[in-house]
Amino acid sequence: MMNDYDVVVIGAGNGGLTAALSLAKNGCKVLLLEQHNIPGGCATSFIRGRFEFEVALHQLSGLGTESQPGPLRDTFRRLGVLDKLDFVEQENLFRIVLPGKLDITLRACRDDIVRVLKDRFPAESSGIDRFFNLMYLFSTQMIFGVYSRDPEISKTKYPEFFEYAAQDLQAVMDKYLSDPLLKLSIGNYWSYLGLPFNKLSFLDYAIMLFSYIELKPFHIKGSSQALSSALLDAFLKAGGDVRFNCKARKIVVKDKQVQGVVTADGFEISTRHVVSNASTLTTYLEMIDIGDLPESIIQSFSSRTIGLSACGLYLGFDCEPQDMGVTESTNFIYMSDDLDRMFRLGRTLEKPEMVMFSCFDVEDPSFSPTGAAQGALMATSYAEPWLSVPPNQYAETKYEYTQNLLDMLDLIYPDCREHIEEAEVSTPLTHMRYLGHPGGAIYGLDQYVKDTNLFVSPHSAIKGLFFAGAWANSGGFQVTLASGESAARYVLKSLNQ
Ligand SMILES: Cc1cc2nc3c(=O)[nH]c(=O)nc-3n(C[C@H](O)[C@H](O)[C@H](O)COP(=O)(O)OP(=O)(O)OC[C@H]3O[C@@H](n4cnc5c(N)ncnc54)[C@H](O)[C@@H]3O)c2cc1C
Repeated sequence: MMNDYDVVVIGAGNGGLTAALSLAKNGCKVLLLEQHNIPGGCATSFIRGRFEFEVALHQLSGLGTESQPGPLRDTFRRLGVLDKLDFVEQENLFRIVLPGKLDITLRACRDDIVRVLKDRFPAESSGIDRFFNLMYLFSTQMIFGVYSRDPEISKTKYPEFFEYAAQDLQAVMDKYLSDPLLKLSIGNYWSYLGLPFNKLSFLDYAIMLFSYIELKPFHIKGSSQALSSALLDAFLKAGGDVRFNCKARKIVVKDKQVQGVVTADGFEISTRHVVSNASTLTTYLEMIDIGDLPESIIQSFSSRTIGLSACGLYLGFDCEPQDMGVTESTNFIYMSDDLDRMFRLGRTLEKPEMVMFSCFDVEDPSFSPTGAAQGALMATSYAEPWLSVPPNQYAETKYEYTQNLLDMLDLIYPDCREHIEEAEVSTPLTHMRYLGHPGGAIYGLDQYVKDTNLFVSPHSAIKGLFFAGAWANSGGFQVTLASGESAARYVLKSLNQ
């Protein structure tokens, strides 16, 4: 073996980048291996024609404003990238439309949300108040009791937290609200966590919605690629080494202790610490010899399922957003309020019944060239139906599928089709390819109520192996960026022992 490193980080997604940077800043000799030719994983951009398209980031949570900073702002400050980035605050959480039945826009302000919901659903006024009171109480108790590690945490001190932490969103909404359209409006961010209400942890949902309202949604000028590039630059400045187009094939383990990493082109690196930003499934089941895997790890997967992926349609328009009537950055268009059916449809190639449409130029006209705009349409989808499409029918199938997305957009913005200058399509197979993740899952494994962060241990049963990113914890920018710093803390502790 050659080239000793204190730590090898596999994967330069959000979690891998923040882990690598954090470790390098703490004086470790770090090698970052990335199979793709650019840093970022999901947090990247691509160019078609005169447009640079954002791949993933619709709304950044957890940043907060300068006067009310959120945890992510502190993370960026600690990592030395805060002053390298410009953030654009989004005024609204979203516009939600179900043609003929619902069309409301919720601002990122509790009083305003409650007012708009009461105007639209007057019979549910008191339920709306009670739901929001509970959600705020619960989230505050979560912050002060759990996140701040209150040594006196107890049922008496944090009663709402203890009562609702293990409930699903459906159960809590059913207690306070009746109209399915009201539940859909409040639970609309389900697609950011990837499960229907009856499988989605109230804890995960409440803290996410609370965070978007209180700390506001943001976008990054120059796309999330600007963030990934800033993290990489800071890593290189801190003395880190990086190899692109370099896939980690094997993690060498002996006596349940990491010994090294072997790359796909056969390069051997010795190290006693690995942070994997690749999926837990790939890391354990493909990179480590089965004989070196403790039985407990194999068992731990038996109750887990691979989370959802997405179909995307990236559009470059030859006009400003307002020329097509687009006035909100983030829009959710539904054809039905039956979420369970939407999930079933996600496992088929049938017409989806929800599409998300983001147009960053609404709040940041410099996002696209002058006089132009870009839009990202996204429908939740799983890889299975796509995997069974014969290769010679793939192109036709994906274009047919995305016509459905355009049809939904047409209903709300009837002029949009005429203004399309560029179009690119992604399917779960695209995400499988550039991320290397099973099912092209964008949030890792499904996070059922039993799998929330409260119950999942961050430790691995193999000494020296740590995880960062969506598969280690849960998905989304805020969580994965924080997970890298957290993995780095565990590695430093282990290195110092
Ligand atoms: C279309 C889309 C929309 C989204 N919208 C939002 C949003 O609005 N808000 C939000 O918060 N989140 C959103 N997300 C989710 C969010 O982007 C992801 O959850 C998050 O970026 C995942 O980060 P990660 O650290 O898990 O790494 P990933 O992004 O999963 O990256 C993992 C990296 O590891 C590399 N890798 C894998 N295997 C190997 C190997 N063997 N060797 C070397 N390298 C390897 C991959 O190439 C990749 O670069 C979206 C995602 C997508 C795709």
